[in-house]
Amino acid sequence: MPRPIQATIHTGALRHNLARLRAAAGAARVWAVVKADAYGHGIERAFAGLRGADGFALLDLREAERLRALGWRGPVLLLEGAFEPRDLELCSRLNLWHVVHRPEQIDWLALHKTHQPHQVFLKLNSGMNRLGFTPPLYRAAYARLAALAQVGEIGHMMHFADADGPRGIAAPLAVFAAAAEGLPGERSVANSAALLRHGQDAQVRADWVRPGIALYGSSPDFPAHGAAHWGLLPAMTLATRLVAVQELAPGQSTGYGARFTADAPMRIGIAACGYADGYPRVAPTGTPVLVDGARTRTLGRVSMDLLAVDLAALPRADVGSAVTLWGQAAPAHGGALLPIDEVAQAAGTLGYELMCALAPRVPVAAD
Ligand SMILES: *Cc1c(COP(=O)(O)O)cnc(C)c1O
Repeated sequence: MPRPIQATIHTGALRHNLARLRAAAGAARVWAVVKADAYGHGIERAFAGLRGADGFALLDLREAERLRALGWRGPVLLLEGAFEPRDLELCSRLNLWHVVHRPEQIDWLALHKTHQPHQVFLKLNSGMNRLGFTPPLYRAAYARLAALAQVGEIGHMMHFADADGPRGIAAPLAVFAAAAEGLPGERSVANSAALLRHGQDAQVRADWVRPGIALYGSSPDFPAHGAAHWGLLPAMTLATRLVAVQELAPGQSTGYGARFTADAPMRIGIAACGYADGYPRVAPTGTPVLVDGARTRTLGRVSMDLLAVDLAALPRADVGSAVTLWGQAAPAHGGALLPIDEVAQAAGTLGYELMCALAPRVPVAAD
């Protein structure tokens, strides 16, 4: 028998989450953000659930090739644009839209030979100070692009630094409105958090929205709101089984560094999942986990291939019992949910990082 760990990508959940975000987007079109191999779900598997999107946004050119190989002929947007001049050849060949966020990318376009003008999104640095032209340089960049035969339509975009937090969207949105004022072209500003929290504002929905994390069923503003609050379903389940059970006497410990010690007689289960599977090593004792659909907690240090779980309240659990690390327990076990956001919070990180860190050695299936 193979090692029992397994990730499952829920095609129906992806479809459901896309419909939920489309409803929030109103008349705006939806870029499904599938960067980082669809946030760890796999482009091909994600595509099965997200093919109803209006376009796909990503940043790795090989991932763009994979999307085209799946037969997707609609818009594909490179969120960071070209990394070097010859990337533009692939943009021409695969008909990719691309972001322009720094002056060299305009120089490259000016030298690029293409029959078909490229659709681009000019990116404003509205205060995040990662990518984009600052407001004083934005309109000159637009004018340079507009003068190029290699460039067709020019859209306008920016990215929020704190759509999920207290600084919110008002200030960067005002910077964006002023920078792009009066310029023709479509606009795109909203990530998942902006769309779900502020999508009642037409300026936030704009012409295109760019949700990523919410498509995969993780809440963009946990713990303020959980995925259930936003009507999202988990698109990934990570599951395994117990491969051993131990009886601890008072004073006995489990795992490296003896980080958990029983203070009363106690049954514990050993699950076939560790940090080499992408489960966070820093998840401390008390991180939530499901055994046969019942909620319990991890104990002690996560090791490379194994972690320990508390069976004190689960006398029927035994070797072979199903363990859900995040996602949804099997219907036979009640289908209980364990939001990835709760596991991430216990480990001091975000659902984003756990999804993206799913390790290559974990077999993945789709349902
Ligand atoms: C990743 C990304 C998104 C999606 O963000 P989520 O928080 O996952 O919704 C949108 N726009 C840009 C430019 C991105 O890089």
